[in-house]
Amino acid sequence: MATIIALTNQKGGVGKTTTACALADGLAAKGKKVLGIDLDPQGNMGFSLGLDIENCHTLYDVFKKVVPARQAIQHTDCCDMISSDIMLSSVELEFNGAGREFLLRNAIADVAADYDYIVIDTPPSLNILTVNAYVVANHLIIPMSPEILSLLGVAQIKETVDNVRASFNPNLNVLGILLTKYNRRTLLAQEVSEMADNIAKQLNTVVFQRKIRTSVAAAEAPAHGESILTYAPKSNPAFDYSGLISEIATALKIN
Ligand code: ADP
Ligand code: MG
Repeated sequence: MATIIALTNQKGGVGKTTTACALADGLAAKGKKVLGIDLDPQGNMGFSLGLDIENCHTLYDVFKKVVPARQAIQHTDCCDMISSDIMLSSVELEFNGAGREFLLRNAIADVAADYDYIVIDTPPSLNILTVNAYVVANHLIIPMSPEILSLLGVAQIKETVDNVRASFNPNLNVLGILLTKYNRRTLLAQEVSEMADNIAKQLNTVVFQRKIRTSVAAAEAPAHGESILTYAPKSNPAFDYSGLISEIATALKIN
């Protein structure tokens, strides 16, 4: 059965999608079979990995039972992928009955066993789509960027995690907080580290040792349809993401 990792933070622009792409690419490069799933109606993950998300079946079609998951899987240069588009935003209104938290779990039941890892990108919100990710995930990774680091949003994430644990997925684990767009040289770095440690304590988790540094290459990569690891393998963030993947592998006791 696949190990399922979801990237989450209700704030936008913190590096969820960048990290999802790097993780999917990096795990695939280690010879793992990886399925990416985009739960964000903005469709950035599929687009960032080079897919044409407008002329294919999407996760929404799977939720609507138009096609089974297998038929919505596309192949990127690094991994398999079920992409999304703006249609997914109607899920909140369309699916309002019992069991709406299990849309994703049911959708991928047939294909999950084909993969070593499933990497889920989530929208910048804590809505039913996010809950669907938390219901299927084994592990959550919470990317945070220094400029919007705050304890405020953490209480909301914690509440959602606690609710999902209580009702649907008792083993949901918060694997760690990932500092992105990090610049060690600023005066703020020390403050940022302390704040991140505090946030991690609230969530009973750790801050990953490896912090992801800033580079324009990270912003350029999506337009080239490649993760930062493939687009600019010698860049600082690529180096940092490789280190992160090793750290995750150690934490999960995999090779
Ligand atoms: P989210 O999915 O949380 O909204 P993204 O991964 O899309 O965040 O990142 C937001 C923006 O920041 C994007 O333009 C992305 O290219 C850029 N970005 C992400 N990580 C880095 C980084 N390490 N260095 C520079 N820019 C980055
Ligand atoms: Mg995103």
